[in-house]
Amino acid sequence: MIIVMESHSTDADIQHVVERIHELGFTAHLSKGVERTIIGIIGDERLFKKEQFSLLPHVENVIPILKPYKLVSRDFKPENSIVKVNGVEIGGEKVVIIAGPCSVESEEQLLSTAYAVKAAGAALLRGGAYKLRTSPYDFQGLGENGLKLLSKAREKTGLGIVTEVMESNEVELVAEYADMLQIGARNMHNTKLLRAISKIRKPVLMKRNYSSTLNEFLMSAEYILSGGNDQVVLCERGIRTFVEYTRNTLDLNIIPAVKQLSHLPIIVDPSHGTGRYDFVIPMSRAAIAAGADGLLIEVHPNPQEAFSDGEQSLTHNAFQRLMTEMKAIVSAIGRRI
Ligand code: PEP
Ligand code: MN
Repeated sequence: MIIVMESHSTDADIQHVVERIHELGFTAHLSKGVERTIIGIIGDERLFKKEQFSLLPHVENVIPILKPYKLVSRDFKPENSIVKVNGVEIGGEKVVIIAGPCSVESEEQLLSTAYAVKAAGAALLRGGAYKLRTSPYDFQGLGENGLKLLSKAREKTGLGIVTEVMESNEVELVAEYADMLQIGARNMHNTKLLRAISKIRKPVLMKRNYSSTLNEFLMSAEYILSGGNDQVVLCERGIRTFVEYTRNTLDLNIIPAVKQLSHLPIIVDPSHGTGRYDFVIPMSRAAIAAGADGLLIEVHPNPQEAFSDGEQSLTHNAFQRLMTEMKAIVSAIGRRI
């Protein structure tokens, strides 16, 4: 249920409603808009009586939220959310390009890529130190040494770091180094990890599981917001279909769907979404044109030698080309880069 406060209500009026919600044993989440404040009541909806709240002073309206997700829904927060990562705003007018290698492999590989993507105009650096691989025989990442290299790359370039955390007991460690924590597609349903991440104050990039529905995607984000962390950016990275000429099928329909239903920013990962370097630029254009707030792009100095995902990685030159092409698209849709 959400409570819409009258536009002239004071902080004391709002506080009074919040206290009443707590007295009744529920949790209150505040969303302060420019016009008015909305208070979400979280708890078992069968136990609420509308009148318990509608008759309180300066309450304009009490509306049940019928959708299973509450805090991520646009009903609860009509304005777009902006998530700030190392000074970079995701979800605002600017389209944010996050780029870097799939895996952190060495200092030379990471730093050369960090300098190259920065020079081309990327806003944030990505790189996996903990890798969730399909095969146990594949490269599993450099672990904490990889995080240290990412820190060094931030020192040298000033770019904020986006990196994946796989285990709930590693969240604090990864958060010490990262500016944004990535939840991998395979972990979108890992509620223990989601809860651990909900307890820290770091932005989160949540990738969509390749078999998840829109509802499940938003419910996983709800775990993080309901635990107290509202700094969530969603990421579409392709789903499983019968199509066999690409690694996954990039579901661009989900961009307008998320924009209608949720206030959270959404970015697109055409690298995993296609699995093919030659499809990355065309699908990047399409994603931005469809309203995505940014892109996550894999870049490698020498894709043929990459420890992971070489076939979908752009060379430094190709990434520069992508950035040039993005400038034309963002200006056509009235955004900036
Ligand atoms: C990645 O970003 O390198 C990655 C492993 O992505 P996903 O979890 O979407 O497969
Ligand atoms: Mn990858």
